[in-house]
Parts: sequence; structure tokens; C-alpha cells
Amino acid sequence: MSDSPKLDFIREIISTDLSTGKHETPITRFPPEPNGYLHLGHAKSICLNFGIAQENPGAKCNLRFDDTNPEKEETEYVDSIKEDVKWLGFDWNDDLYFASDYFEFFYNCAVDLINKGLAYVDEESPEEIKLHRGNVNTPGTPSGFRERTIEENLEAFANMKAGKYKEGQAVLRAKIGLTSSNMNMRDPVMYRIMHAAHHRTGSDWCIYPMYDFAHPLEDAHEHITHSLCTLEFENHRPLYDWFIKNCPVPSAPRQIEFARLSLTYTIMSKRKLLQLVNEGHVSGWDDPRLPTISGIRRRGYPAAAIRAFCKRIGITKYNGTTDVALLEHDIRDHLNTHAPRRMAVLEPLKVLIENFSEEPTTSATIPNHPQDASYGEREVTLSAEIYIEQEDFMEDPPKKFFRLGPERYVRLRGGPIIQCTGFEKSESGEITLVRANLLPDTTGKDAPEGVKCKAAIHWVDAATAVDAEVRLYDRLFTVEDPDSAEGGFTSVLNPDSVKTVTAKVEASLAGEAPGTSFQFERNGYFVTDSKDHKPGEKTVFNRTTPLRDSWGKAK
Ligand code: ATP
Ligand code: MG
Repeated sequence: MSDSPKLDFIREIISTDLSTGKHETPITRFPPEPNGYLHLGHAKSICLNFGIAQENPGAKCNLRFDDTNPEKEETEYVDSIKEDVKWLGFDWNDDLYFASDYFEFFYNCAVDLINKGLAYVDEESPEEIKLHRGNVNTPGTPSGFRERTIEENLEAFANMKAGKYKEGQAVLRAKIGLTSSNMNMRDPVMYRIMHAAHHRTGSDWCIYPMYDFAHPLEDAHEHITHSLCTLEFENHRPLYDWFIKNCPVPSAPRQIEFARLSLTYTIMSKRKLLQLVNEGHVSGWDDPRLPTISGIRRRGYPAAAIRAFCKRIGITKYNGTTDVALLEHDIRDHLNTHAPRRMAVLEPLKVLIENFSEEPTTSATIPNHPQDASYGEREVTLSAEIYIEQEDFMEDPPKKFFRLGPERYVRLRGGPIIQCTGFEKSESGEITLVRANLLPDTTGKDAPEGVKCKAAIHWVDAATAVDAEVRLYDRLFTVEDPDSAEGGFTSVLNPDSVKTVTAKVEASLAGEAPGTSFQFERNGYFVTDSKDHKPGEKTVFNRTTPLRDSWGKAK
């Protein structure tokens, strides 16, 4: 028995195709339409397609922009998609293609189908065409234009291309039949008229191919061996195969469908994400609450953790919804190993150490990682005033509360034990200051006899700490399946999905480069914001994830 992990059904098929000699090496592609930013669902497809190319000698994966619809596509999207694929750790090398470069090829294939009597120009209105198609129970009825001669069709199609029709006045349809129980096979539309400027071909064309016609031709043109797509396309496969069989194409790719990624508490459709952006529910495509690749990057999700997650969920034929907690687990898992530790106080409460005598400050030496000594250690200063979390002090603590309260002891992480000697309150009852004494010679040593000290808390030195804007992100939606909310997904937005606080953090954090991850001890994983954090000027952190899953607990 070999120890190699079990292959998913797609890798199984590829392995068979290689061993039977059907293909020498697989060629895959990732074919985004540049009409929005990529999201985690796309990451699954990227890891699959580029992953297969990495695993097989001589194999490659093309990055192909499926830019056949001029109305929704923009260069901004093309650029962001390239950046995202690279960030995920993949490379298309020289294999970057645009479907719009094949417009001539598509056109010639269409003319070829007309010449074979397999396509016709229909001048019925879109409403008539829809009506005459019938439905699953009723066969369609032929359009009055269905029996045009080849010559008439060639001329009409040339006129479509020449701009002699208005939008909606004519379409080119495949002549397959009108009785199939698969509606996709009922004389599907191949070309429509759109008088719109295309982001790459400008006004060269006013006829644009439909996805079902263009996609198999794009694959064949690039000699794709295995064309991997999501399950919705399963009943488009007969049409895919029909175009491959009847058009003059240089290769015959095989379409294989797999289950798309859906996550709880998440919207995963470019159209809906665009709506969140356009309606101002989020700050942009790279808002750290969005499942876009640019959003999760800014949130501090590491690319390696995304790849690990995609590997773990695997490739299957069954659509299901993955618990977002699983993704968050993989993020924590990765950061636990890879993020150095620092201290930051998110809701500061000042502690005055009354017997602090050393001048002007002393310091504590703290390891940067509890398990991995290669991260080294650092000196943090300690002086007469420090900050601790408000929640680490209680005026009247219960027995099981092991942190600070009147007369109680607690250890400052990496430093000495302190004992609370008093506190001050504002008129409204808020604790404004805690007083304490430190126990000399307790740094790095057990508590002296008779001193009950059961916990260590994080802290920062008030004399050297810097202010940081910290954005505490939480899930964007309050329900598991925002798509099925009665009032639509915008009715279940989490009003507390971001809370901004001014934290006190270790001084060195102000100098960190944007996009650097840390664990703030006891608080979670945080990353310097890639847009707003300016080293030495303005310190801005995004919370990547808390240390534990509080949603699972709440449920
Ligand atoms: P959306 O529905 O979000 O607009 P799409 O499928 O229209 O996505 P494309 O740009 O056409 O977006 O997708 C590029 C590739 O990514 C396709 O091969 C598609 O199957 C795949 N893909 C898109 N969404 C998912 C998903 N949720 N899970 C897995 N693969 C996906
Ligand atoms: Mg699409």
C-alpha cells in the first residue's frame, strides 16, 4: 500500500487519463469573468486548477479572462484578479489569455455552423423566442426564421456583425432541436447584439458570443484537457460537447463539474458583493469583512491558511455548506504557529504602581513565541504607570476571578506580581484608576509564601505605549444563511460587524510594515492595515480573529 493521500475524483480521472495515454499531461485553466473581485469560492477553484498543474510534470494552468460581456467588465477587475491569484501563491507564467482575443475564432466557428445548416439567425423578439421555447413539459415551436437557407443566414449574420441591427432585433441560434427535456439544448442562442464598448476591443464588435458557445471554444483553442467547473454547469455539458463536436476546433476538452464552496454567515456571489459595495454597507471590495480575496488579505488571513483550508474541504460532487468556523480554525491554526506575540490593551485602565522606585524605567524580557524560540525575545519597559484591560479588574470580584481586585494579586505577564492597594471611581461609577504595589524580586519566580497569584495578565507601559486604532471585526451577517433571509441578505447585516477602539500597544508596533500579523496575547490575532497603517505616523490594526470561536459557544 502506498502512503499517498487518497485522490479526489477529479485527480483520479486525470491520473487514469495519464496512465492510459489519453493525455501526456493535464492542461487546466482558471477562467474568471472580470466583472468583480475574486472571493473564497474562486480560491477553491484556483487551488484546484493551479494545484493540478503544480502536481504534474509539464502541466500548466492558464489564467483566462472570460471577457465576452462588454457591459459589466472592467480593467480594474482584471488587475485585481491577477494580484489575487499571485497572492494565493500561484503563477500562470506566460499563459495569460483573454477570450476577447478569440472573437474572430468564435465568429468563424459560427459561420462554419451556419454552413453546415446547424445555426440560423432568428429575428423574433426576445419575448417570442422565450415563449416559443416551451417549457420542460411542453416542446418548443419553431421560429418562423428557423428554415432560412444557408445563404440567407450567412447574409443575415454578416449584417448582424456589420451593425445593421439594433440590440434585440436578431440573434444567432444553434439548430439542435426544440424537444429536448434539457432546456439548454433547445436551439440555444449563440450570439447577441450589444452596441457597447468592450474594455479591450472597443467598438470592433457589436455581436458578442454567449457563455455556452464561447466557453467550450476557448477551452478547445487552448488545448485544455480537463475543464473544471461548478455543478450548475452539469446540464450545460451536452451543449458544451455539441459545440466541440460540431465546430472546427483543435482539441476536445472534457468538462467535469465539482461542488462549489458555500460558507455559513457568508455571501459568495460577485453580484451580491457588488451590491454590498455599491450600497455602502461595506467600505469597498477590500473591506476586511468581505469574503473577497482582497478583503481577507487585508483582514490578515494568510494565503497558506486559505490553501490549507481548500485542501481540507476537498473536491466532491455534492453541494453543501461549510461551517465558516472551520475556515476560522485554519486561520488560527496557521497564525498560532506563525504570528509573533505582542501585548496590546484594547480597553485601557491605568494602574499606578505606588512603590515603583527604579528610575526611570525597568524592563521585562518576554519571548516572542511560546513554542518557537527562533522568534527570539524582546525587552518591554515597565514604569510607574501601566495599562491593563478594564475587564481584568473587578471592584467586587467573585472567588473564581483570579485577576485584579482590591487586595488581590496578579502577575504582569513576563514581569513582577502586583497587589492592588486601592482604586478611584468617577461620578458615574466608572473605575478610573487602580493603585497597586509591586512585589520586589518576583519577576520570573514563583509567588512568595502566602501570596495567592493564579493568573498572569497582559499590560503595556504607559510611559512608552503608543495609541493604535484597532478595528474589531466580526461576522458581517447575523444568520447562517443570509441568502434565504426573508428580507434579503441586506436585512440580516450584523450591526456590530466592526467596532473601532483606541488601544495602547507596545511602542515597537508603530514601526511595523503594513500587512504584518501578530498575536496580541489573550486578545486574538491582529494585522497592521494595508491601507491606513503608516509606520511611525499612524498605527492601525485589524482584528483577524479572536483566539476562540465565541459564535460556536453562543450557540
Ligand atoms: P459568482 O457567482 O460569484 O459571480 P462566477 O461563477 O460567476 O461567480 P466566474 O468569474 O465565472 O464567477 O468564475 C470563475 C471560476 O470560479 C469558474 O470556473 C467558477 O466555476 C469558479 N467559482 C465561482 N464561484 C465558485 C465557488 N463558490 N466555489 C467554487 N468555484 C467557484
Ligand atoms: Mg459568472
